Amino acid sequence: MTGPASHTADPDLLDEDLERVLDRAGAAAPILAEASIEDRAVALVAIADALDVHRAELVAAARAETGLPGARLAGELTRTCVQLRMFAQEVRAGAFLDVVVDRADPQFVLGPRPELRRYQIPVGPVLVFAASNFPFAFSVAGADTAAALAAGCAVILKAHPGHPRTSELTATVVREALASVDVPDGAFALITGVRSGTRALQDPRVAAAAFTGSVAGGRALFDIAAARPNPIPFYGELGSINPVVITRGALDERLDEIATGFVGSFTLGTGQFCTKPGLLLVPAGSAVVDRIAELTAQVAETRMLTSKITQGYRARLDTVSGVAGVEVLVTGTGAETQDGDTDTVPTVSPSLLLAPIAQLDETSTLLEESFGPAAVIAEYHSDDDVEKVLTHIQGTLTVTLHVAARPSADEVEQVRAWGRLAATRAGRVVFNGWPTGVAVTPAQHHGGPYPATTAIAHTSVGTAAIRRFLRPVVYQDAPDEVLPPAVQDANPLRVPRVINEAGESGTWGHHPG
Ligand code: NAP
Repeated sequence: MTGPASHTADPDLLDEDLERVLDRAGAAAPILAEASIEDRAVALVAIADALDVHRAELVAAARAETGLPGARLAGELTRTCVQLRMFAQEVRAGAFLDVVVDRADPQFVLGPRPELRRYQIPVGPVLVFAASNFPFAFSVAGADTAAALAAGCAVILKAHPGHPRTSELTATVVREALASVDVPDGAFALITGVRSGTRALQDPRVAAAAFTGSVAGGRALFDIAAARPNPIPFYGELGSINPVVITRGALDERLDEIATGFVGSFTLGTGQFCTKPGLLLVPAGSAVVDRIAELTAQVAETRMLTSKITQGYRARLDTVSGVAGVEVLVTGTGAETQDGDTDTVPTVSPSLLLAPIAQLDETSTLLEESFGPAAVIAEYHSDDDVEKVLTHIQGTLTVTLHVAARPSADEVEQVRAWGRLAATRAGRVVFNGWPTGVAVTPAQHHGGPYPATTAIAHTSVGTAAIRRFLRPVVYQDAPDEVLPPAVQDANPLRVPRVINEAGESGTWGHHPG
């Protein structure tokens, strides 16, 4: 038996301790906002370097608490360090400041135009709710923290109770790293407990929040953020079904590869990924269903993250398998957990269900996320069947399409239509791959319409995630000497700029400065 696997609530902070955290974050905010972008970059790299130094003990702690394999955790920690260094590079490049200058123009087409200088400033202290399923990459020093610090914001991190010791250890590393490069100590704090998280979210000193977790939890917190006297942005990543559609042409070419890939993807990490493909649409009458069932039945039991998540998973399985017409092709084993037994390590093997495609209408619970190693297959009889399902699904992080390498003209036509429909539902449309595994890169968009996220325009993965914690301000006709360096005429920070000269109003020319 490894470590405590039950998901008992962490203790709340004492009121005076929470007050101190909020006060320090509020005091640090203007100092961080004024700090040079080089100082921000140095701080991010310092955290990454320190995490690398403490790699062995961090991975060991996370392994004991989550039961995730050491290699996966080591890889996740590497990703965490890469994210931090990538954000350092991003701030050094300066493009995130999004500087745009419109020179004054007395001849402007709509009448005399003032001089306008716009750039992005940090929003202020950010409250981050860490995820259960990424003890490093979406936790204490994870993507949200890196993006907020890169933007110049203080971070208050609500630890996830699924890995308390890992969180505390990581927080100590972060605090020490920041102190070593003279960042004020209010720049980062760890808090625990449901009430502490909720109170911090309601506090006027907190300017934005980020969250990864359940639809119920995320929605409750989103509503709290919106109901404040001064509502704040709440960047929640909630639930996602991540449907996959396979064309007949793709199956003709690589049935076995697709079956193996699908089973590998929906069972990866015991199915506890936000991008887990939960729904597979295949042409009716194909042998792929039997092959997927055969492969699924061979997958061994692996560990769930916490007993709370396991209980939720079991309840979901009961609901889904109880839907009229649903056939259970593979019944997963395990998942025997006892409430309050901290030595119980819940392990499960995957479950596979077959649903009539007619059941997948907009009210169907089959189109909601099941967090864990379960997937639903539905056989389609016509292109129309697929279009209906893609129309009925709610916002999702991904839609995946498997297409023949050399598609027929009909298939191209069909897939083009599905791709367009997919883009109205998902933040990322994947071709001939699997949605699990999200590249951390500038072009990445890990987001999508609700309930995939609560903020449709933003990503939580990749360097564009910094935009969540910035807001624009424009200076009108300000004397150059009083302007912040980022928008001064001489461009002392040497950041990329767009300058619209006077007399260009006919073309609104864009010139890098
Ligand atoms: P969760 O229950 O939503 O909790 C996430 C975080 O939010 C925790 O720190 C939790 O605090 C806090 N929280 C949740 N509801 C709250 C509320 N009403 N008031 C105050 N704080 C609240 O998610 P989880 O524990 O990670 O896993 C449970 C379920 O979340 C999974 O079964 C799955 O459905 C979903 N999930 C989705 C993703 C995704 O990427 N889409 C990732 C992980 C989990 P406490 O735990 O301290 O209560």
